[in-house]
Amino acid sequence: MHFLIPAAGSGSRMKAGKNKLLIELENKSLIYWTLKSIFSAAKVSWVGIIGQPDDKEKLLNSAKDFSYKVKWINGGNTRQESVFNGLNSLPPEAQKVLIHDGARCLITPELINKCIIELEKNEAVILATKVTDTIKIVDKRGFIKKTPDRKFLWAAQTPQGFSVESLKKAHKMAIDNNWEVTDDASLFEMLNWRVKIIEGNYSNLKVTSPIDLKIAKLFLKDS
Ligand code: C5P
Repeated sequence: MHFLIPAAGSGSRMKAGKNKLLIELENKSLIYWTLKSIFSAAKVSWVGIIGQPDDKEKLLNSAKDFSYKVKWINGGNTRQESVFNGLNSLPPEAQKVLIHDGARCLITPELINKCIIELEKNEAVILATKVTDTIKIVDKRGFIKKTPDRKFLWAAQTPQGFSVESLKKAHKMAIDNNWEVTDDASLFEMLNWRVKIIEGNYSNLKVTSPIDLKIAKLFLKDS
């Protein structure tokens, strides 16, 4: 299975003054933990890390146990652009690809394996969890517009996996039509292409703000 790891964010919400994937948790960088889980999964044949050129040395150095096994790909201004660059750097034999955010360092090899198995049977899959909060749709002035029925709400995570040919087609259509999305499954939805949900777990959080770092540290200490 081929993997792409978007790792080219600025991490502005973390306010760490550097790429959040370089922050140390339990004496290893955040990206180290993400790569450790991926390389512990079965059937991993190729991994590309998508990062900003300025971070290349630091990111690869901070995960040197794995750096000789990964291909470096320059990222773009948005996650969408970064993934598009990644898709264009996949080797020609790649039929399916799993995309996993570098910032989700608590992903387990078991969940990755579950995604691989489901992706072998489907065109598109994503890991997601049932939403437990009641979600509000709010207008620009901060007033509630409506409350969607919670039983239909899921929180999207990564890995998200796709047929390479279809995802490339979807990204090209997004460029032609100026669609801006925050995950890859959204492009499939816009095209009315089916995406299968795989139920994940709440610990697969995306490390975004300082509170997430505290939670991630607790989990890594326990594991
Ligand atoms: O910004 P957000 O938290 O949604 O980013 C999710 C993932 O996408 C992170 O791992 C981040 O490094 C990556 N990203 C990227 N290129 C960008 C912005 C974000 O690869 N330009």
